[in-house]
Amino acid sequence: MLATMQIKSKLPAVGATIFTTMSKMALEYQAINLGQGFPDFNTDPALLNLVSDAMTNGFNQYPAMAGVPSLRQVISQKIATLYQHRYDPETEITITSGATQAIMASILACVGTGNDVIVLEPCYDCYIPAITLAGGRAISVPMRAPTQTHPVYSVDWDLVKAAITSKTKLLIVNFPHNPTGAVITAADLDELEALTQKHNLFLLSDEVYEHIIFDGVTHLSLATRPALVARTFLISSFGKTTHTTGWKIGYCCAPPAMTAELRKVHQFMVFTVPSPFQHALAAYTSDPSTYLTLPNFYQAKRDYLSHGLKQTRFNVLPSPGTFFLLADYSQISDQSEAEFAIWLTQTHGVTVIPVSAFYQSSDALESNHQLVRFCFAKQVATLDLAIERLAKV
Ligand code: PMP
Ligand code: GLN
Repeated sequence: MLATMQIKSKLPAVGATIFTTMSKMALEYQAINLGQGFPDFNTDPALLNLVSDAMTNGFNQYPAMAGVPSLRQVISQKIATLYQHRYDPETEITITSGATQAIMASILACVGTGNDVIVLEPCYDCYIPAITLAGGRAISVPMRAPTQTHPVYSVDWDLVKAAITSKTKLLIVNFPHNPTGAVITAADLDELEALTQKHNLFLLSDEVYEHIIFDGVTHLSLATRPALVARTFLISSFGKTTHTTGWKIGYCCAPPAMTAELRKVHQFMVFTVPSPFQHALAAYTSDPSTYLTLPNFYQAKRDYLSHGLKQTRFNVLPSPGTFFLLADYSQISDQSEAEFAIWLTQTHGVTVIPVSAFYQSSDALESNHQLVRFCFAKQVATLDLAIERLAKV
């Protein structure tokens, strides 16, 4: 028999993502899955009808490479209203296959061999592989871990500044932040402005949770600062905003010259993304109440789970944004986060995500703070079942 060909891996360290691994384990052990971030309820029937209308009305062939014009216009209007910057739908907005593809295309467009990219740890899983595929090097800068007096992760800007060299090309930020729920402050934007101007850096701002922010706080998009807009790939996704993570419709906004390079990559990665979903989302999103109601909707779920976890030995940390919350399990176990997450699934039938999975050195002591991430984008019945099981831990 002929030996099969072997590929020299470009991503030797990459396996299945933590989300896939834990979801598979949840199925195997029939556990309540509060791990992978996706709603377990359906989207608005009105949105589903708009998709089937689009199909019936013949929107079934290739849309424009950059995306359906009406959707780009709606995004432009939404950002202008919320963040006071008007992106030109023609030259500055590109509809992508989820935020994931926008992130990959932006990084491939602007990073190359010899370039360093700073990511803040814990960091979402698709950034570092994209940097590696582009030929760049990811430089991880740890965020400040929560303490008694400041119980939410925060950016240590001195560490960020210390990590910048002449090779640094791009800085990636993600607020509201997965997995910690941290939100960005005006002081953070000031720091970003100062250091990106000083070192002439590009920025990639992953704002997929922009509409999931709590306690009356308004999201501070990088689009609110003209000095940042000029150097930023601003990325978001309809997956989180319309409870449709499986549709994979996202977008990237950037100044014309940056968008032109992004589109060169985009057009040969996917060319364009499914037409009926884009038409439906354009019509749906033209009503601002579809996203302005999300903070209250998710805050009720956050509070429900936080309250439920008070009956357990988990210690809940505040979650100012996203549909995740972190909880400390140090009163339950000394295990590493990964061991604890597996044990919890197998022994108590509730699946969570170890925060250490969002660090490059997941096993290192400094990546383990005895914290796990719970997703509360779930029906009350699901949360109840999980709380009942967790109370027995
Ligand atoms: N960035 C972050 C921070 C995310 O949490 C996710 C998905 N949950 C994505 C990007 C990817 O979004 P999409 O599913 O639209 O590709
Ligand atoms: N972003 C989702 C999360 O953080 C997972 C997406 C995925 O499975 N790739 O849970």
